[in-house]
Amino acid sequence: MSLADFPRHPLTFGPSPVHRLDRLTAHLGGPTIWAKREDVNSGLAFGGNKTRKLEYLVPDAIASGADTLVSIGGYQSNHTRQVAAVAAKLGMDCVLVQEKWVNWPDAVNDRVGNILLSRIMGAEVRLDPAGFGIGFKDSWKQAIEDVEARGGTPYAIPAGASDHRLGGLGFAHWAFEVEQQEQELGVFFDTIVVCAVTGSTQAGMIAGCAGLEEAGGRPRRVIGIDASAKIEETREQVARIARNTAELIELGRDLREDEITVLEGWAGEEYGVPVDSTLEAIRLTGRLEGMIIDPVYEGKSMAGLIDLVGRGTIGRGSNVLYAHLGGQPALNAYSALF
Ligand SMILES: *Cc1c(COP(=O)(O)O)cnc(C)c1O
Repeated sequence: MSLADFPRHPLTFGPSPVHRLDRLTAHLGGPTIWAKREDVNSGLAFGGNKTRKLEYLVPDAIASGADTLVSIGGYQSNHTRQVAAVAAKLGMDCVLVQEKWVNWPDAVNDRVGNILLSRIMGAEVRLDPAGFGIGFKDSWKQAIEDVEARGGTPYAIPAGASDHRLGGLGFAHWAFEVEQQEQELGVFFDTIVVCAVTGSTQAGMIAGCAGLEEAGGRPRRVIGIDASAKIEETREQVARIARNTAELIELGRDLREDEITVLEGWAGEEYGVPVDSTLEAIRLTGRLEGMIIDPVYEGKSMAGLIDLVGRGTIGRGSNVLYAHLGGQPALNAYSALF
């Protein structure tokens, strides 16, 4: 099956906007920086990258006869908020296991931002004090069993919709969308910069870009910036999902090692805890562009972009596409920083 053969349930407004960041470009004094905006990709509860992934999981959920979406994330998970929105839109129930993934002392961490939005949308939110991890947990099994015990049919969506057979398809599709937009804009993005944690966003991009290359397109770099502070796990996850997705869309060759680039250096010590470079990136982007990024994910990937330009790793002649994956609601749990 090629990518076009997989059913996709539209949840977005259509192609997400692409635009130049002129003042950031001038400030950094190197390559031309553009952004592709998944933070405004949908009318469903502020959208984001998980909404795109879910476009490919929803047909499978519907086909399975499910009436309840079950998923898991941290208290301020953007992913679970997007699952809650999609469940509401589909007329399904939603059960969310929210774990204490982040060592962050905000007094209203479990009450504002993403978790507040999920509650508004009618999701059953279950707080669980377990720590950071993307594996399967007791609370997760319990949630699925509880849905079954009350006569419902659950559809389980793993953390970040990543460790799922179809998890990489949303961003493989994104790559083809980028190519279309390049033709309209008359530009070629030789470098894409993207945040990586559960991995299927970057993995899908890698598989999709390899597909474009096989169809005769020019090669490009997809640079992942780790925000989990567990670089080996992130790399392993990105590589595995990229290879699975490439096979799923019948790329017809194995991915090369040089196609899988996840860089460390901007995550700080811990997932969800910003460091100086994160805050500088957030302020810089806000003040130069009026573009809001968050302290968990995009603040870290933007810090990476800024440094890679400064070091010349991304050269002057480049056209860089910064993938803005969303995540602003979490800012509400970080008010003390500002
Ligand atoms: C989930 C998320 C990411 C990371 O994407 P993965 O597919 O988990 O690697 C980055 N930014 C935001 C805003 C997210 O919600």
